[in-house]
Formats: sequence, structure tokens, C-alpha cells
Amino acid sequence: MKAIVVGGGIGGLAAAVSLRRVGWEVQVLERAAEFGEVGAGIGVMPNALRALEWMGVADEARRLGTPRVSGGVKASDGRWLTHLPDVGQEKIIAMHRADLHGVLLRALPPEILFNNVEVTSVEELDADLVVAADGINSRLRAELLPDAPGPVYAGATAWRGVAPGPFELPITQTLGPGGEAGILPLGDGRVCWYVAAVAPPSAALDPVELFAGWHDPIPSLVSTTPEIIRHDIHQLPLLPTFVRGRVALLGDAAHAMVPYLGQGACMALEDAVTLAACDGDLARYDALRRPRTQSVWRSSRMAGKFGIEVTSPVALAVRNFVFRALPGQAAVRGMTRFSSWDVPAMPR
Ligand SMILES: Cc1cc2nc3c(=O)[nH]c(=O)nc-3n(C[C@H](O)[C@H](O)[C@H](O)COP(=O)(O)OP(=O)(O)OC[C@H]3O[C@@H](n4cnc5c(N)ncnc54)[C@H](O)[C@@H]3O)c2cc1C
Repeated sequence: MKAIVVGGGIGGLAAAVSLRRVGWEVQVLERAAEFGEVGAGIGVMPNALRALEWMGVADEARRLGTPRVSGGVKASDGRWLTHLPDVGQEKIIAMHRADLHGVLLRALPPEILFNNVEVTSVEELDADLVVAADGINSRLRAELLPDAPGPVYAGATAWRGVAPGPFELPITQTLGPGGEAGILPLGDGRVCWYVAAVAPPSAALDPVELFAGWHDPIPSLVSTTPEIIRHDIHQLPLLPTFVRGRVALLGDAAHAMVPYLGQGACMALEDAVTLAACDGDLARYDALRRPRTQSVWRSSRMAGKFGIEVTSPVALAVRNFVFRALPGQAAVRGMTRFSSWDVPAMPR
């Protein structure tokens, strides 16, 4: 059985690795001149680690990920709202995106990877299975589900970067008025960070100014990082199906969500393993993946409402009080409530 994967991001490569594990012949078509990822960090949650485990690449991911560190949630003045002394490496690891992408890329033989190939229609592709892993603006999705609405602006914009360091910092998420910041320390002293703010689309904003009053080291991370990428945050309204004929939508092409629970790429890794477990049964893939990812999509939206979108001082005070009142274990459960996913039963 032959599969063609359109898109060589984290989702597409994970699909290729997973399908090959159950015996599919796979080709990956990527429109960019090179396979790669943006210079930013990613939190690999326990569910995603389980998917990587099944793919046979978790040990390398752990080796490149963050060593065991403490962490938690802070207010913008630096006070802890939740402090977790041990966010264990076996639970969540922080990685540079390029490292995660590289782990998947190295698990694939180069002869199945094709660059500079922009797919414009499913009709071009001769395969038993087509995996549309072509991202939030998926061309294949638009072709297959022409009535489904496309991505919409989610009301906030984000800047991300990797500060050279060396730093020794805990993993933190900081919630402030109309904004949030995340610090993901890498094992080698570099720090992946992001800041995000409620704003109109394409607003002319300077993150150095916006986050100048936030606790250390957020202002210095933002002002000293040589290369910063900016993305207005979009989400894809929920789709009625992830499959059509011999095509399966996967990753952001199927369920692009706001990043406030850090589960977007983790869902793409789950999709990939589940697709392999379904071994061509796309109705089963749809039945397993749509409810799961759409529930995470909704919760991510909700996390935004109680996180970045809180702007009034009274609402901020109430939100911070509730956070501080939560026992540590409850906070861990809240942050990792989607982590209990297991790899579905495999084909014989
Ligand atoms: C600010 C921000 C922070 C985030 N933080 C996290 C986090 O901490 N944890 C997490 O799990 N997720 C996070 N996410 C979400 C995560 O980035 C995405 O869910 C994930 O990268 C999607 O991967 P993908 O492979 O589906 O799509 P993409 O990474 O978009 O890959 C799609 C690929 O397809 C290629 N392509 C597109 N069209 C074509 C075509 N027609 N022909 C051939 N190739 C094509 C593209 O060039 C690209 O390489 C974050 C997102 C944002 C915006």
C-alpha cells in the first residue's frame, strides 16, 4: 500500500514515520526548498511523548529535550501563581522545534523525501492514501471540503525566539493583563520563549515595549534575542470530517487551534500514530481523532479566555486568586489533563 504525505512539517514527518512502521510505502512532498522548522520551542507533552515512543524516536527526543527542572505559572510581576517543584522530564520535555523535526527527519530514508514540490490538487497524486499535512492554510482541505470555513484570526499575536544564554531557568508560563509569556529552557543553556498579546490583526506592536514591565528575565529575553518570529494567531473552525475518499487531514490542516495549552503539534503526533493504527480505515481515523482534537481545540480556546484574554484588573485579581488557591496537584492535572492519551490498538 502506498501513501503520499503532503507537507513535511512535524505532522507530515510523524505520519511518514508511523505509516512506515506498519508497512506502508511512503513519499513526503514538501513545497519548501528544504525540510525545516521555525526557530522556536515546543513543549512535548506526555501524550506526544507516548506517540514518539511508539514511533521509536522518544529516546533521542529525551536526549535533546530539557533535563528535569521545576516550573509553574507566574503573574506578570513575578509572583508564583502555581509552583511545581518537579516538572519531570518523563512528563513534559521542552525542545527546540528544529530538534523535534530533526528527530523525525532522521527516522526517514532521504530517498522518500521530496522538496520543492507544491501539491495543488489531490488528483495529481497516485496513491492508496493521501495524508494532507499541509498546515493551517491547507490547499487540499480547501479542495476536498470547499464549504468548510477557512482559518480565522483568534484575537492575539505572538512573538517567539531562542535566546542563546546560557541560562538556568525553570519552565514557566506567565499570565498578565491581555498577554502571556512562556519560558522553555533547553538542556544546553539556550531558552526558547514566546510572548503573546491581545491585539488587532497585523497590529504594529513592539514586543520589547509591550513586555518591558514584566518580570525578569522576560524583558531581556525579548530584547536580546537576535532572531524573533511573529505570527498572528489563527484557528480553524471545527470541521465536519477529517477524511474524504482516500484523503486524511492531519495536524493543523485538520484542527489548527490556539496555542494556549501547547497541544497543537502534540495532536499532530497523536494523529500520525492513530492513522497508522487505522491502517487505511479512514472512517476509524475520523472517529478516533475528531472528538479528541476538537475537545482539545475547545479547551485551548477556553484557556485563552481565562488566560491571555483577561484584561480588567478585577478579573485579573480573581483569576490570580483562584490560581493561587489551587493545590499543586490540581494545577498539574489542569495543565496535563489531555496527557492520558494512549496509542490505539494496532493492526495485526
Ligand atoms: C505561537 C505558537 C506557539 C505554539 N506552541 C506550541 C507548543 O508549545 N506545543 C505544541 O504542541 N504546539 C504548539 N503550536 C502549534 C504547532 O506549531 C502546530 O500545531 C504544528 O506545528 C502543526 O504542524 P503541521 O505539520 O500540522 O503543520 P505545519 O508545521 O504548518 O507544516 C505544514 C507543511 O506543509 C507544507 N506545505 C503547505 N502547503 C503545501 C503544499 N501545497 N504542497 C506541499 N507542501 C505544502 C509547508 O511548507 C509546511 O512545511 C504553536 C503554534 C503557534 C502559532
